[in-house]
Amino acid sequence: MTWWKCSNCGYIFEGDKVPDQCPSCGEKCTFYDVSCYTPECGFCGIDPKIAGTRQEESRF
Ligand SMILES: [Zn+2]
Repeated sequence: MTWWKCSNCGYIFEGDKVPDQCPSCGEKCTFYDVSCYTPECGFCGIDPKIAGTRQEESRF
């Protein structure tokens, strides 16, 4: 499973693939893969370094 973060509202959820619409805000957003692949993150499944930052949002 992969953890995804909505670029619009910041909602984080788990799934095999991204849905057509964000489960939280209902928009067709860009979803970032925020899954943690290293045990250093505490095995919560989410990488806090990725999930906690909003600087990767594109501003196109
Ligand atoms: Zn959203």
